[in-house]
Amino acid sequence: MVNVGILGATGMVGQRFIELLADHPQFEITALTASKRSAGKKYRDAVNWHLETGIPEAVKDTVVVDTDPSEVKDVDLVFSALPANIAAAVEPKFAAAGMKVASNASAMRMEPDVPLVIPEVNPEHLDLIETQQKNRGWDGFIVTNPNCSTIALTLTLKPLYDQYDIKRVYVSTMQAVSGAGYSGVPSMAILDNIVPYIGSEEEKMESETLQLLGDFDGESVTPANFKLSASCNRTPVIDGHTEAVFIEMGEEFEVDDVKDVFKGFKGLPQKLGLHSAPESPVIVREEDDRPQPRMDRGAGGGMAVSVGRVRRDNVFPENLKYVLVGHNTIRGAAGASILNAELINEIM
Ligand code: NAP
Repeated sequence: MVNVGILGATGMVGQRFIELLADHPQFEITALTASKRSAGKKYRDAVNWHLETGIPEAVKDTVVVDTDPSEVKDVDLVFSALPANIAAAVEPKFAAAGMKVASNASAMRMEPDVPLVIPEVNPEHLDLIETQQKNRGWDGFIVTNPNCSTIALTLTLKPLYDQYDIKRVYVSTMQAVSGAGYSGVPSMAILDNIVPYIGSEEEKMESETLQLLGDFDGESVTPANFKLSASCNRTPVIDGHTEAVFIEMGEEFEVDDVKDVFKGFKGLPQKLGLHSAPESPVIVREEDDRPQPRMDRGAGGGMAVSVGRVRRDNVFPENLKYVLVGHNTIRGAAGASILNAELINEIM
C-alpha cells in the first residue's frame, strides 16, 4: 500500500477524497491536513461532514495537522484540495520535500512544466514530470487535474477531436453549488436564483481545455488549434455540473456516428483496468429529457460523463449540439486526482 495524505481534508473536495479512498486497494490515508483552525483536532471534530456515507471509521479519530511538509510523516503521495492561493505557496514545498502531489487546485495548472492531465485524454503529458524535476531540482513533483467543468467537457471533446475537424466550441454551464466549496455561495444568494458569473471559471475552461487537447512534443505542450468560448452560471443544484455544448464542425458529420464515437471512447485507464476508471468515460442517453444532474451525476460511480440531446442544430445545420452532466466533486475533482495517481502508480 502507498501511504497518502490529504491536504485540505476538511473541505468539500477533501471529504470526497476521504470517501473515495476509504476502501482503496492501493492507497492508505495516513495523514490529514487543513488550516491552523483545524490542526490539533480529531478529524470528526474539525470537519463539517456533509456526505451521505458518513465519516469512515478509519479517519474519525485521526488528528488533523497543519499543512506543512514537516508535519506530514512517511507519506509518499499527497492529494491536494487546498484553495488556490494556499496551494501556490504550499504544494511546491511538498514536492521539494520529495512527495508526489496530485492537485485539484488551479495554482500550478498552467505552469509549462506541470502536467495538467485527464488520464483518458492526455496521459502522455505526464512525461513533463521529468522536465519539472530537472527544472526545479525536486525529488517529488506536482501533477494537476483540470477544473471541474473543464474535465467533463474535455472528456466529451476528446473522442470528437480525434475523429473530426472542430472549428469552434461554445459552452454554457449550469454549475452546482458544491463547486464553490462549503461556504462558497450563501443560500440567500442561490436559492430561487441563478448567478450568471463564476470568478475565473470561463477563463479556466477556455485555456485548460486547449492545453489538455494540445500536442506534446516531449518537452512542451502546444495548445489545440480551435476556439472555445464559455459562459458559466451557478445554479441551485447541490452536486453535478450541466453543460450545453455547441460545436461548429469543420466537416460533415452524422448524428448517429457522433453517438457511436462517444460510446466507443476508451482511454488508457480503461485499458489498464485502473481501480477508479469507469467502464465507459462517456455515456450516451437517448431520452429527450436527459441527462439531469440528480439522475446522472452518479453514472460510473460519479466518474462517467453523461451526454444527451445529441443533435444537429436546426438553424446552423453544420453544427452539433449536446448536453452533458458530470459529477463536479468526483470526476471533476477528487476522483480525477485519484485516477491521475492510479495511473502514475501503474506506469512510473
Ligand atoms: P473548501 O470546501 O473551501 O475547502 C478548503 C480546504 O482547505 C479546507 O480543508 C480548509 O481547512 C483548507 N484550508 C483553507 N485555508 C487554509 C490554509 N490557510 N492553510 C491550510 N489549509 C487551508 O474548498 P473545496 O471546494 O474543497 O476546493 C478545494 C480546491 O479544489 C480548490 O482549489 C478548488 O478550486 C478546487 N476544486 C474544487 C472543486 C469542487 O467541485 N468543489 C472542483 C475542482 C477543483 P479548514 O476546514 O481548516 O478551513
